[in-house]
Amino acid sequence: MNMNTRNKEKALVVFSGGQDSTTCLLWALKRYKEVIAVSFDYGQRHKAELDCAKEITEKLGVEWHVLDMSLLNQLAPNSLTRAEIVVDENAPEEGTPNSVVDGRNMLFLTFAAVFAKQRGITDLITGVSQSDFSGYPDCRDVFIKSLNATLNLAMDTTFCIETPLMWIDKADTWKLARDLDGLELVRDMTLTCYNGVKGDGCGRCPSCKLRKQGYEEFLARYR
Ligand code: ZN
Repeated sequence: MNMNTRNKEKALVVFSGGQDSTTCLLWALKRYKEVIAVSFDYGQRHKAELDCAKEITEKLGVEWHVLDMSLLNQLAPNSLTRAEIVVDENAPEEGTPNSVVDGRNMLFLTFAAVFAKQRGITDLITGVSQSDFSGYPDCRDVFIKSLNATLNLAMDTTFCIETPLMWIDKADTWKLARDLDGLELVRDMTLTCYNGVKGDGCGRCPSCKLRKQGYEEFLARYR
């Protein structure tokens, strides 16, 4: 696969400053002549997320916008937005972890699509993955295809939602970052930790455990 063609025009990346969306940003930069990143401010507990997003887009020279989604916090208070709710350390036996905001990806992608259309962009890139499905129904491929159809009908446009990580696990996401010459950038500059610690993170929260496990698997698989 030729990773560096840049034969497509414009894309908008839904960008959180985490491992997955940063890998997607690198992916988009290899393919598109113009890339814009949008992040969402939904009153997340750690503003550090937005700081990371700012630093990464500045380093990569990518135009970056923050959209206000504070209504999300009003609609669905949860452990990622409310400091008084403690994040589950382990995934629950049943149902979704308490870090889920219902419909979050749907809302983000929908707002991103409205923003993209204004800029004449139809390609939307998101880092959702069905392989690491951890209780987020709006990360599934069937949902993305459904939303794509809905957005097309809603705005009379032909959107194309690209999901480079949909069928790969965390170890292969690290490999993709390496193949895109971004392993160090993703490892050192991104934030996935629920406790707001950049890079390797706190090491205790579910997100850190998943990230570390994926990195170790990546090293074992592709050393
Ligand atoms: Zn952590």
